[in-house]
Amino acid sequence: MNRLLPRFFALVMLSVTVAAVATYFAISYWFGDPLEEIARKQSAAQIFLLEQFVDKAGSDEWLVRLNKVRDVSNITYELIPLNVAQASLDTKKNAQLMAGGVVLDVSGKSFYRRVDLHGERYIGSEDDVIHVQGLPIDVGLAVRVEALRYVIVALFLLIPIIFWSRSHWRALQKLSRAADEFGEGKFGNKIVINDNDAVQPLAQCMNTMAHRIEDLLSAHKTLLHSVSHELRTPIARLEFGLELLREEAEGTLPEARVAGMQADLAELNALVSELLDLTKLDRQQDLNVTCVPIDEMLKQLHNSVGHKLDNRKFTIRAGENLNGIIADQKLLMRALSNLLLNAIKYGNQQVLLSVQVLEGGAIEFAVEDDGPGIPVDQRAAIFDPFFRLDQSRDRHTGGFGLGLTIAQKAVQLHGGEIQIGQSELGGAKFLFSIAQP
Ligand code: ADP
Repeated sequence: MNRLLPRFFALVMLSVTVAAVATYFAISYWFGDPLEEIARKQSAAQIFLLEQFVDKAGSDEWLVRLNKVRDVSNITYELIPLNVAQASLDTKKNAQLMAGGVVLDVSGKSFYRRVDLHGERYIGSEDDVIHVQGLPIDVGLAVRVEALRYVIVALFLLIPIIFWSRSHWRALQKLSRAADEFGEGKFGNKIVINDNDAVQPLAQCMNTMAHRIEDLLSAHKTLLHSVSHELRTPIARLEFGLELLREEAEGTLPEARVAGMQADLAELNALVSELLDLTKLDRQQDLNVTCVPIDEMLKQLHNSVGHKLDNRKFTIRAGENLNGIIADQKLLMRALSNLLLNAIKYGNQQVLLSVQVLEGGAIEFAVEDDGPGIPVDQRAAIFDPFFRLDQSRDRHTGGFGLGLTIAQKAVQLHGGEIQIGQSELGGAKFLFSIAQP
């Protein structure tokens, strides 16, 4: 946005330059080179002297008069063979020369002219050319005047553009800010623009679009929440019914099948709980922020995931000056334990949790493992709900693909963002930092 005016300026200057060059070539083509015309005027005295004084002499006097002119002037009047002159001129100028015309060489500050066409001045004069050099030709001033003219035209062209862009400037900036906010998922702020502004219809369309997206998102969240909530009761009833049936049947039911059904119900229950957690986070606006002692939190994390470790090595690496962290303890613990449980699930032998204070005071957490890692092209999609890298690989881990979505939302509510990288242990590395007030 801020580069709009300089760009306009550059564009106008470029167009005017192209127009100036095109004008020069068009005029040269149809009416002759304007610079040559200026040079001819500046050499008028020398041409006049040649035509009206030297040429007016009779055949025995011509050279005498030319020498007189040479004596009194500091301009060089040189006689050169016709073929030498022809070699230094292009076809058009050669034709001009052969017809007996004065042929100007603007950059060489000189002109050529045949002494005469029929050898009447002296013997062999039809094969000679008079080359007059050191003429008072200066087209620089004319070029500068032309350039100034075009620059002034360009500047005056810019005035209406500046007025035009100024009148749209604020409105465009509002649209740009609103588009940024929409991108961040904030659809609440509507764009207010004057009715007579040219971009007002666009603002109206954007407002309608934001309103519609907001409605759809809210309907989507409500639906997800309601469905998850409604599922809870029948699942609980099924669990209860199954238990009753088992007791009443007094061992006559096939135990393995009943256990399978109970496991399926437990899985359904877990899915509903995760969905409800996710919808709760979606609706959550405020954090329950306290100063959480970090060593205490690390101990709790160790205890909560410890039973899943089997024989894996779990290392906690805490940096210096770590006291407390200002955060919502429940959410932070949830994000970290989801990442740790994944590291345990998908890692082989080692899990590493590191915490350190960054330079600006923010606290950084990293969870690493020695598993297969996450391919670079999948790293953005991995936070989408129900996304799993490899369905067959993940089936036995029993996840629903919601753990990372929940972790990301919990970190985002703290103003952070989880980044994925490659761990030195060989597997995935999940990294995020929480800014401190
Ligand atoms: P899930 O409950 O399936 O683990 P997540 O949202 O936690 O769901 O993870 C989504 C997918 O990301 C997983 O199914 C798995 O494929 C992949 N993933 C997550 N963490 C890791 C990790 N540490 N190493 C390798 N893959 C991982």
